[in-house]
Amino acid sequence: DRTGPGTTLADLPLREDLRDEHPYGAPQLDVPVVLNVNENPYPVAPGIVADIAAAVAHAAAGLNRYPDREFLDLRADLAAFLRVESGAELAPEQVWAANGSNEVMLHVLQAFGGPGRRALSFAPTYSMYPEYARDTQTTWVVGQRTDAFTVDVEHARAMVREHRPSVVLLASPNNPTGTALPLATVEAVLDECSRLSQGAVVVVDEAYGEFRRSGTPSALELLPRHGNLAVSRTMSKAFSLAGARVGYLAASTAFVDALRIVRLPYHLSAVTQATARAALRHSEELLSTVGELRTRRDETVRWLRDVGFEVADSDANFVLFGRFADRHAVWQGLLERGVLIRETGPAGWLRVSIGTADEMQQFRTALQEVVSQ
Ligand code: PMP
Repeated sequence: DRTGPGTTLADLPLREDLRDEHPYGAPQLDVPVVLNVNENPYPVAPGIVADIAAAVAHAAAGLNRYPDREFLDLRADLAAFLRVESGAELAPEQVWAANGSNEVMLHVLQAFGGPGRRALSFAPTYSMYPEYARDTQTTWVVGQRTDAFTVDVEHARAMVREHRPSVVLLASPNNPTGTALPLATVEAVLDECSRLSQGAVVVVDEAYGEFRRSGTPSALELLPRHGNLAVSRTMSKAFSLAGARVGYLAASTAFVDALRIVRLPYHLSAVTQATARAALRHSEELLSTVGELRTRRDETVRWLRDVGFEVADSDANFVLFGRFADRHAVWQGLLERGVLIRETGPAGWLRVSIGTADEMQQFRTALQEVVSQ
């Protein structure tokens, strides 16, 4: 019986291309030191929690109604934040938001990808990118980063010419390597895309943008000259709001209008909008942990190099280090000592998110124990 209580997945008409797929996600384990998904280790301060709670209570009183479908107030607040953070001059209509930048990016692939089209990125990079492509039946095309995890300009141009993508995804700082791209690389990709007869959009994913080292510019400054460029950001990392699920992007109004076609009506709940707006009123205080995390990131890079590891330069709130003949054994050894990091990236490397001073001390102690065994 294929439809009774004993139904298995094999009995259901799942898409053929999803048959051997598994749900994406890092292990969610209850351990003392959680450094595996690049969260901000500092919870939102009590005063801000109270403000968010009051805003949510106000929204709750109106939950019989659907939320504001266009959420222009939130989009104006996000534009105001980007003006302060990066000097970007953006109208609210040039900003888009969704339930995490994951959903923002899915909107991009739904609008600009699809059957018969290609999305291009450069590996190693964020492992959700091929999933957005899969889910929208966009062909996934991947170039290779250099040994230093940068994107070679000539290789990038050649990949664009050869594969004629309609979407190019450039993570900067890149996950899992931490590598930021020079704007010249982004501009070269934009230039090559402008030669494609059918056109292409370029998304610079700056999920970790606030953690970039001084002197590393944001791609936001390229927006005024490129209507096919989008810069994506999130409140999950620097803002300490991963649980709220708010990601956003800035682009031309035309780009945003394309995303408005594919979004589900009312995709951003009234509770989410209220939470994000209340948090943005405190953006300065929320982002006050960023400086400390950047300093600790740089200290972590130095320490790992001092004790003899290979470490990728990082502009993010995590560090990729290695190399290990058996990285799984190291990951497991750390877990047994209560420290959860991420087994990701090229073979032999591991990624650790930057936590509190105490958490990083526990990480260092555990790592030294594991590798000296
Ligand atoms: N882009 C990159 C490069 C990421 O690492 C992440 C989170 N791991 C995201 C986007 C998505 O984050 P969120 O959906 O929480 O905004």
